[in-house]
Amino acid sequence: MADLYGQYLNIKEEVDAAMSEVIRSTIFIKGGKVTEFERHLSEYQQSEVVACGNGTDALQIAFMALGLEPGDEVITTPFTFVATAEVLALLGLKPVFADVDPGDFNLSPAQAAAAITARTRALLPVHLFGQNAPMEELLTLAGKHGLHVVEDAAQSLGSDYFYSNGETRRSGTLGIIGCTSFFPSKTLGAFGDGGALFTRDREMAAQIRSIANHGQRVRYHYERIGMNSRLDSLQAAILDVKLRYLDEYVAARQKAADYYDHHLEGMGDLLLPERRPWSTHSFHQYTLRTARRDDLQQFLKKRGVPSMVYYPKPLHLHEAYHYLGYGPGDFPVSEKLARTVLSLPMHTELDEEQLEYITATIRNFYEF
Ligand SMILES: *Cc1c(COP(=O)(O)O)cnc(C)c1O
Repeated sequence: MADLYGQYLNIKEEVDAAMSEVIRSTIFIKGGKVTEFERHLSEYQQSEVVACGNGTDALQIAFMALGLEPGDEVITTPFTFVATAEVLALLGLKPVFADVDPGDFNLSPAQAAAAITARTRALLPVHLFGQNAPMEELLTLAGKHGLHVVEDAAQSLGSDYFYSNGETRRSGTLGIIGCTSFFPSKTLGAFGDGGALFTRDREMAAQIRSIANHGQRVRYHYERIGMNSRLDSLQAAILDVKLRYLDEYVAARQKAADYYDHHLEGMGDLLLPERRPWSTHSFHQYTLRTARRDDLQQFLKKRGVPSMVYYPKPLHLHEAYHYLGYGPGDFPVSEKLARTVLSLPMHTELDEEQLEYITATIRNFYEF
């Protein structure tokens, strides 16, 4: 599914040198490398950046920074990684699910609108698999109801959003706060854990930095309840090198996606990932839909082609979230996606021979 070692070998000298520098300095926590990486990412994103321990922490810190009350409702998608809803539950907020668009897997503005109540305080769209949710519609909806918009951009770093007025912004910088993850297999992946928050509001950035650092701005002066969430210097050094290649990495993923599109189009009952005019797609995943998903996955496995199901069950049907009172049938699009989606190998080191083998194997399946 990924080739992290192959990707490393291509930038080995730079990464090794950056790591050695950190080890020689023995500044493993905070310090120059973290600040440098934050500055470079800030230039890339055109927003303030606060690095933190991982993407889940980033989401938690974002909702702590908004200062919501227990029981306040946050509308999000059930077709996502668990972290999206988990942090809400941990903070005593109520995750309220709204169904997604079947073509791009992202939160549907119409469904989100229908889920708004007097207790709703925020929308939490997830830019799933690397393509931005329809942010302009969601921001308009939020504006109408006085809601915050927090973006889960864990999978979408490196993708752009196009406003209808022609303005372009990086994914994760449209809402009041955006959150991303540097989990190794993410589009910008560390050699361990890492995450970051984005905001264009300087005061908000200062609050976020304080929350991530035990609630202090001045050392040993705690102005709020915070947490300990840090990107370590070794990860920052590695990420700072890889950030220089992020656009190349995204282009390599898009090239592989174009190959898949071209060679799988019209095959059997396959539905290809739909592209949206308001977003580029950084293809964290390339995700097909087919009613024969399980058979196709078995067929591929026997012929040495890995594939994954993201996600096999929408969040509202998991035991941990039963307390929210949802049941089967509540989010039919997400439930159908869970039965039909299949993600193909997608990474920066895929070559034409591998792509040819993968698509030929899928063709064989449908010609059987
Ligand atoms: C990976 C991911 C997260 C969590 O990131 P971690 O760094 O693993 O904590 C959150 N949301 C989504 C959509 C993700 O894909």
